[in-house]
Amino acid sequence: MSKGFKKVRFNAEDESKIKLRKITKRSASLPQGTDKKLDKFNNDETAARFYLSRVFEEDERSIVRGLSRGSGSQQSKLVPDMQLIRTQTIPSTKTKLFHFEQTQDTIPIFGSNAVVEITQNRGLVDVSSKVADVEGVTAFPFISQRDALKVIKDLTGIDVPIEAIQPPELTFFYDEKKEKWHLSYFFKKIPAAPKGFLEESSKYKGIGYSSGISPKPFDPQINYLIDANDGTVLLFYSETHFVKIPVQCEGIGALGKSHKFWGSAIGNDYELADPISDVRTYDLKGGDLIKDSLPDKPVANAKSNWEDSNKAAVSAHVNGSKVYNFIKSVLGREGIDDKGMELTSVVNVTCFKQPDPSGQWHNACWRENKMWYGQHKLANGELCSYSRFLDIIAHEMTHGITKHTSDLLYKDQSGALNESFSDIFGIIIYNWETVGPDSSTQQWTWEIGPGLGGNGLPLRDMSNPKRIEIGPGLGVYPDHMDQYKYITYDNGGVHINSSIHNKAAYNLLTATDQNGKNVLTPREVALLYYFCLCKLNKLATFKDAMDELVETAKIIWKGNKQLRDEKIYHIKNAYQRVGIG
Ligand SMILES: [Zn+2]
Repeated sequence: MSKGFKKVRFNAEDESKIKLRKITKRSASLPQGTDKKLDKFNNDETAARFYLSRVFEEDERSIVRGLSRGSGSQQSKLVPDMQLIRTQTIPSTKTKLFHFEQTQDTIPIFGSNAVVEITQNRGLVDVSSKVADVEGVTAFPFISQRDALKVIKDLTGIDVPIEAIQPPELTFFYDEKKEKWHLSYFFKKIPAAPKGFLEESSKYKGIGYSSGISPKPFDPQINYLIDANDGTVLLFYSETHFVKIPVQCEGIGALGKSHKFWGSAIGNDYELADPISDVRTYDLKGGDLIKDSLPDKPVANAKSNWEDSNKAAVSAHVNGSKVYNFIKSVLGREGIDDKGMELTSVVNVTCFKQPDPSGQWHNACWRENKMWYGQHKLANGELCSYSRFLDIIAHEMTHGITKHTSDLLYKDQSGALNESFSDIFGIIIYNWETVGPDSSTQQWTWEIGPGLGGNGLPLRDMSNPKRIEIGPGLGVYPDHMDQYKYITYDNGGVHINSSIHNKAAYNLLTATDQNGKNVLTPREVALLYYFCLCKLNKLATFKDAMDELVETAKIIWKGNKQLRDEKIYHIKNAYQRVGIG
């Protein structure tokens, strides 16, 4: 006979009335805690234990029967080796489940269980159990907890101090293959994974889980069973099952507004780690962009309501998630690299190349596959993060997409096109979030970085580039090819000549039919530009971009010639008005 587990089942529906009455008849075997007079159980657990005891007692296998009652002074106890782990109420059936685990010599048996389901009136519904008789192994460990932890260190290469973990529990473990019982140390939630384990596990992304939740673990929490006699690794598995359930958090952002966002519960803390969009936000606390490394963990807070404790981080987290959601839901792209890359945002960043004793760094950039945010002083002297500018964030993250698609060379016209794509998506995403998804562009804002240019003006204006001066004595931004600036500074005018292509995109986004409705919806324009960006080559010109938009439109509206011709007419018209094509 196998030395392993024995299954026990009893379902009130399946059994004959006679058997059911025999099992549930209380007078024949009154348990402790039974009120004899009323013939009722004093509490739900007593009822569950009584039924479990009766089902065990009626079993033909002596090992199972032996679990029914205690022996010696324990004789009156019902299923004394079954330890109650948790209870659960099922709302649809109004029944209650009691989950037990089997112990032997007070040591839990890994994988054993008993679930007893009872009605509101404490009647029996179902018993399902897996129990065992542990043999051939002592209940005393030969090696210490520290030695067992050293085995984990050898396996993972990570030295986790014993003080940092919950003490391991002694547990009996059955090796099915070798049909052998082991006494083991059960280490739970160890922040160290065996080499290659997480990489291997993440290959199975999506299988068996709802598609919206990424199984990518933010931090490993691995359970280990280490033989307490010889230190063999018996089993390890991920505690998190690679699914992190998001926790709804709220907090105040850099603009003073309250936001709701997703975070994670880690221990007693809440972290800016959104498992739905794969967005994590860190605080460099004034550290250097190039010289300092990221903190170990995302920004954490003791409560799910962050209030105004880290406005820069809340804004970066909220805005980063907005851009990521747009990329995914509108463009159908899996993150910046289209391979599910996580979005890492870092706030309170400085740069030694632009030192400023007041802690300012007038920048926000996409670098090394991360979003970095500087900060500047407001009139009241307070440092305020660039993470509050959704248009700038979307602009910077579009540079990331460009890098992973056409990789437009950041010089001269291809560089200006690179900049323009970032402005276009910056404006589309900003208005999508603030005016409304796919809203009429007549209500849109076209300023990039409002207030960040000189004299309270924006950095650039897509609708009217010429209202802004490039710099003292440098003239205004161009809005037509006949004003194209052949210059050497700014990498050949990448932030300047981009305005010509910006104006063409503005023309396209605002083109209306006779009824004043957008000829192309913002969603359609976003898709056209996105596919265009994916197909362009490194040295593409403004004209190449227009041609690619036309080619893409031919595919999108292939099924309707009239519609297709109308859209293509407006694409060409938008570009011709700025002298392209
Ligand atoms: Zn840029």
